[in-house]
Amino acid sequence: MNGSEHNLATPGFIGQEQVSGYFDRVFSTGKVGSGYLFEGPSGVGKFTAALEFTRRLKCSRKKEDGTPCNECYNCRLINNLSHPDLEIVFPLPASLEKADDKLGPKELQEINEAIKTKAANPYYQLKFSQAVYIRIDKIRELEYKLAQTSSEAGGKVAIIVDADIMTTEAANAFLKTLEEPPPEVYLILTSARPSYLLPTIRSRIQRVRFSKLPNNLILEYLKSQGYEGSEAQVAAALSQGNLGRAFDLLSPQFIELRNKAFQMFNLFFEKEDLKILEWVDEFNKNNKQGELEVLMQNLSSLSRDLFLMKEAKGYRNLENTDRLDELERFVAALRDGRQIKALIGLINSNQSDFHLNPNLTLLILDTIFRGREILSSQSNA
Ligand SMILES: [Zn+2]
Repeated sequence: MNGSEHNLATPGFIGQEQVSGYFDRVFSTGKVGSGYLFEGPSGVGKFTAALEFTRRLKCSRKKEDGTPCNECYNCRLINNLSHPDLEIVFPLPASLEKADDKLGPKELQEINEAIKTKAANPYYQLKFSQAVYIRIDKIRELEYKLAQTSSEAGGKVAIIVDADIMTTEAANAFLKTLEEPPPEVYLILTSARPSYLLPTIRSRIQRVRFSKLPNNLILEYLKSQGYEGSEAQVAAALSQGNLGRAFDLLSPQFIELRNKAFQMFNLFFEKEDLKILEWVDEFNKNNKQGELEVLMQNLSSLSRDLFLMKEAKGYRNLENTDRLDELERFVAALRDGRQIKALIGLINSNQSDFHLNPNLTLLILDTIFRGREILSSQSNA
């Protein structure tokens, strides 16, 4: 194990006391269900908890209180996401031309790297250069694997990450597995958008709700992972209770995307269309799909700050306190709070379209041009 892995792969149910208590009871009574939906915001530990669930089933040297040792052969393989009795289905980039196309070497490399990063830090959010799906061939492959007997005691676990991104075909195929699961098979779905799941799936599965993490817990955790106090503080303040986001905030890519969000806000005041098109072109050339999401989150956070400054005329609870000069310049260019409120509405509605709209260029252009329209309506800029 190298130094960068810290202890990240084994944090258990961090900060999710209700979930932790629930599973303490489930495991101590031996009444483990065959299907669970871990639902709640991104980055709060749903996947991490699914790994903890798996360790509790499979650990060969459990402690007296039933918690896993994190050190035995089984625990280590689970932490590396390579246990033969653990199947993980991630949403993956699909070739846009033909649904059945095999993934190319570049995509495969991207996937391998992403999964390695996820194994080192389960809070890491997978990011790919294309829109992602869970397709029917993945579900069929899963069914096949789950039908084999498990290699060790404790049964098999399948984790379906972001299960709401299943195609309709995939969801229908999955429903059959859920209705008649093979013996000793445990299915865990994770989702930040459970309402997008088929109602027939939701009704056949035990729902476990995860909540946002308190900022102080995020701060504590980041410090325990060796991040500097001041750095960790900004990341915790901006994290919105999302530990995955907090880790993103500490990465150079994030800092770059936050800069891009400020640039994008400037484009709302840009008169020349060509400059906007050039910026979007440049952005698309260098950035991946998941990064656009981070860009929009930043744009949303920035707009929220502007709303607070314009409307409440106060600087309390701002998220981007380190860039006050720029915020003040934007505030001066705004007519009133309603204008920025309309802009926030636009950003939120475009953000929620991400997983449905594979044409990200259009989405980003739409945001800039409509945003410009909103802000130019009697703006002072
Ligand atoms: Zn163990």
